[in-house]
Amino acid sequence: MAINWIETEIIEHKRWTEVLASLKFKGNVLPYTAGQFTKVGLEIDGEMISRPYSYVSSPNEDFLEIVYVMVPDGKLTPALSGLNVGDKLFAMEKASGFFVMSEVPDGDDLWMLATGTGVGVFISLLKTSEPWNRFKNIVLVHGVRAADELTYKNQIDEFSNQYGDRFTYIPTVTREKKDNCLNLRIPAGLKDNKFQEIANLEITNKTQVMICGNPDMINDTVSLLEKSGLERNRRSKPGNITLEKYW
Ligand SMILES: Cc1cc2nc3c(=O)[nH]c(=O)nc-3n(C[C@H](O)[C@H](O)[C@H](O)COP(=O)(O)OP(=O)(O)OC[C@H]3O[C@@H](n4cnc5c(N)ncnc54)[C@H](O)[C@@H]3O)c2cc1C
Repeated sequence: MAINWIETEIIEHKRWTEVLASLKFKGNVLPYTAGQFTKVGLEIDGEMISRPYSYVSSPNEDFLEIVYVMVPDGKLTPALSGLNVGDKLFAMEKASGFFVMSEVPDGDDLWMLATGTGVGVFISLLKTSEPWNRFKNIVLVHGVRAADELTYKNQIDEFSNQYGDRFTYIPTVTREKKDNCLNLRIPAGLKDNKFQEIANLEITNKTQVMICGNPDMINDTVSLLEKSGLERNRRSKPGNITLEKYW
């Protein structure tokens, strides 16, 4: 189906590191659901180049936001990186995707496991009331290579202030040592029960797990969770593991 492109305007370009950035933009897109993705595009050498990005913004906010990492040989992200406030960016009129709360079955606790830019979609979801209304406890694990990639800390602190003991944030940095951070890949943190100890929660068949980001992390985590009896969540057969791969 042909995409209906909306011209939007950049209102903020926040650089977290040399290659990691968030773009805020405004435009007349249709209402979307937290957890969905849009496609953003630019005309490069006369051709529309577009890629999918999860919204970090949530539906009640009056701006749109994505977070991206610049892939050096990538077709789109080097051009995104050159954008300034006031520049135009095309966005899909109608967002898409099923990484949304209505696709996640009920349970006691909700675990959100992200690598890199995959944390953005969880920020969007956590800004809405649905996960908090449906789950007793929520754990957000964010795995990155370097500590300066631990994005959205202020927003995460707001969740902690608002929801207290019901919310546990676990940052883990794999390629450097950092105070107050683990130094483990996500599958290892789960396998060795490190995350469960910090959150003081077990992962059982009453747990729902949402996973987003790097496909290797997702594959390894799913294999591990399946060994403990959790199953992929499918529309035809509800389970415990809902995932979104970025490549
Ligand atoms: C549903 C969905 C949602 C997505 N949401 C996001 C998002 O919120 N933020 C985001 O940065 N990307 C996201 N992506 C990935 C994004 O669409 C692009 O693939 C990425 O930005 C690279 O685009 P490019 O044209 O520069 O590179 P391309 O020329 O398309 O090269 C693709 C290669 O870039 C690498 N790559 C892609 N994404 C990443 C990444 N996030 N981190 C590290 N390496 C990567 C992989 O090696 C991949 O094979 C999402 C993808 C999907 C399918």
